Amino acid sequence: MTGRWRLGPLLRLYRPALVAAGLGLLFSLVGAAAVARWEDRVNRIEFENAAETQSLIMQNGMNEYISRLVALRTLFESANEEITRSEFETFSARLFERHPGMLRVAWVPRVNRRERADYEAAAIADGVSGYRIKSLQGEGFATAPQGDEYFPVFYSTQPKTSLVYGMDYATVPDRRAVLERARDNDQIASLRAQLYGPRENGQLPNALVVVPVYAKGTSRDTVADRRRNLAGFVVGIFDLPLLMQSIRVTTGASSAVSVNVYPPFTGQIVSMAHALPDYSSAANAPQAMRDVAQGLHWSGQLKIGDTDWQVRAMPTPDGPLEMTYDRAVAVLIVGMLLTLSLATYLMLASRNSRRLSLANRRVLEVAQTDILTGLPNRAFFLSRLDEINGQLNDGGVTFSILMLDLDRFKNVNDSLGHGAGDALLRQVAQRLKSALRASDVLARLGGDEFAILQQGCEDQRAGSTELAGRIAKLVAEPFLLPGHRVEIGTSIGIAIAPDHGSDQEQLLKKADLALYRSKSAGRNCFTIYDEAMSAELEARNTLEGDLRDAIALCQLEVHYQPFVDALCGARRGFEALVRWRHPTRGLIPPDQFIALAEETGLIVPLGEFVLRRACADAAGWPSDLTVAVNLSPIQFKEADLFDMISAALRDSGLPPQRLEIEITESVLLERGAENHAFMERLKSAGIELALDDFGTGYSSLSYLTAFPFDKIKIDKSFIRNLTHQPRSSAIISSIVTLARGLDMSVTAEGVETREEFERLKALGVNFAQGYLFGRPQPIDRMLFDAPLQPSQLDAA
Ligand code: C2E
Ligand code: CA
Ligand code: CA
Repeated sequence: MTGRWRLGPLLRLYRPALVAAGLGLLFSLVGAAAVARWEDRVNRIEFENAAETQSLIMQNGMNEYISRLVALRTLFESANEEITRSEFETFSARLFERHPGMLRVAWVPRVNRRERADYEAAAIADGVSGYRIKSLQGEGFATAPQGDEYFPVFYSTQPKTSLVYGMDYATVPDRRAVLERARDNDQIASLRAQLYGPRENGQLPNALVVVPVYAKGTSRDTVADRRRNLAGFVVGIFDLPLLMQSIRVTTGASSAVSVNVYPPFTGQIVSMAHALPDYSSAANAPQAMRDVAQGLHWSGQLKIGDTDWQVRAMPTPDGPLEMTYDRAVAVLIVGMLLTLSLATYLMLASRNSRRLSLANRRVLEVAQTDILTGLPNRAFFLSRLDEINGQLNDGGVTFSILMLDLDRFKNVNDSLGHGAGDALLRQVAQRLKSALRASDVLARLGGDEFAILQQGCEDQRAGSTELAGRIAKLVAEPFLLPGHRVEIGTSIGIAIAPDHGSDQEQLLKKADLALYRSKSAGRNCFTIYDEAMSAELEARNTLEGDLRDAIALCQLEVHYQPFVDALCGARRGFEALVRWRHPTRGLIPPDQFIALAEETGLIVPLGEFVLRRACADAAGWPSDLTVAVNLSPIQFKEADLFDMISAALRDSGLPPQRLEIEITESVLLERGAENHAFMERLKSAGIELALDDFGTGYSSLSYLTAFPFDKIKIDKSFIRNLTHQPRSSAIISSIVTLARGLDMSVTAEGVETREEFERLKALGVNFAQGYLFGRPQPIDRMLFDAPLQPSQLDAA
């Protein structure tokens, strides 16, 4: 299902982005968590401080309420006379004027059996109609039975019609316990109050606070004293929610904290939601203690008299102290956004850089490919060579460079056109490729030059020798081009690393040198470089410089060798042969510098010098003698060759008929058509043409028919074999026959013995040249020697 999307490379490509995303996410989470923890701590501390403050404010407020109750007690304990109902009412109304949390206040005197009737009568007299001391019975009240002591509500802030009047606290068990506790301990005691009778304040619980009052001037040191001297109780009923509410309003406490107050030891709720004027609003119902304990909360106590009420505070919902993680969330969001943008950026960057590197690679490929053959080009070859050469220093690597140069490729190009040449190069490339292993590098360096980098042979020398042999054979096989079958060959030069050094440039040069050697050794062969070649090259380089000077310094001389009529032995003319009188090396024969002169182009001025010298010399000879001058194929490429020859003839005054031009067969192979036209021009000017060194090259007899030669010079190698190789006789005989048919004459070169001369004569050769008739010599010595007569030859 991955299709063309393979996961591995994609992962590799986007790894920086993925890593960044992962790390970014991790850091964001860790950062957010840290901020959350910090927020948590800060919130908690802030909340706890607020809650504690709140609770303190509440306690203060409560103490204030209680202190007002105590003020009432002082009123009772300090008065010399009995406090009247109206005094009580006025005083309490004043005390609790701005204290709405005080639901009601009562004076509960200690009434003994004897006093009961008086109290009842006094109350009725005060306007509390039907007042009687009552005891709690079920849900209602009944007239209290006779007892020793009563604790009835005598005065109260309630309207005089209230049912509460006369209620005997001692008949309500939990209230009786509170009274006794307050009395015995001389302490303010409190109790969660159940209101009896009609519910005046809904379901909400209240706190009943009891302050003992003792008879004026009596002791209260011991419990017995207190029991004995007790006068009654000031009782207050606090509406706790309202009370706390009022504290809040008057102190301006924070609305950030909700405080719930719970009675001691009961799970029932007394609550205060701050900032809510109507506490009992259902929407803000106080919370059960269990619920509060689940969230962030603060626990404390509210002391009401001798009893600790429980306080639970929590942050007001949606208030400033409610636990939020805004900053952590912000950190997380910002972190994720940063991560996302960073990852996206990296992803795009990775993709772009991949595209760029692909494009680069493509450009590089194109730049390193030879368009014609599709093979790597020189640039690639050199870079590979550089790479492998780099490994050379690490040791263990051997490799060979094989330099290839096609033989006779130029002929194909010249005669069949560039299209055929290109096709041939492509076929050669294919063949070469087929001969190589995958690890070998084959490149086309340009033109008809190829190079191979062969690596990893056990015996590098043997390996490259074997490969070169195979390639030479392969390339020598005929190629089929459209409409033509061509035969070429390849010369190969080999350099081996590290045997021949480790310098890349040097190795290439050495392979080139070896290639050069192959070329001059007769082509279609291979040569492995050896040090002698370098020495030779050096010598050649010096020679080249010297030769340049030689032309300028007139160190060249022309010697002449006679050729004779085979029939009568008469001298017919001389061949001009150049010599170099070297200042230190003496007389140097042309074999040692003609090739170099041809390669360097020096043959052109050299050839002109010889021609002019020969013409000038011959002009002074007897008019029956001709002069033969050798022309190099390189000279044939000079556009002004004809003009040069004409000028030499004109300047010397030598008739063209006395000049013979000798050219080798290679001239016929290259630029055949142009050279043919040139030869026709020479002929029509009256100059004779001789084909030199016949039988050494590739030309067949058929070539002869196509070119306008006057003379064929059979190479001396044939003459050497004449006496002991019957085949040579046959060949010479057929050349003579053919030449006669074509109206050409035949010269035998290198005739050294009388025996050879006789044989050649018998075979019908027209002219003879060789040491037998004279060595090449300066003309002054030569010309005035009497020509040898056949009779003298016998004696020689
Ligand atoms: P080539 O044109 O075949 O000249 C004949 C060569 O054979 C001469 O060598 C000559 O000394 C040598 N020779 C003549 N008779 C005998 C013989 O009986 N036995 C032996 N063993 N050799 C004989 P040389 O003078 O050393 O010239 C060598 C080649 O140099 C010439 O071969 C020719 O191709 C070239 N050459 C000489 N002078 C010139 C020149 O002025 N221009 C050009 N382009 N080439 C020249
Ligand atoms: Ca010659
Ligand atoms: Ca010759």
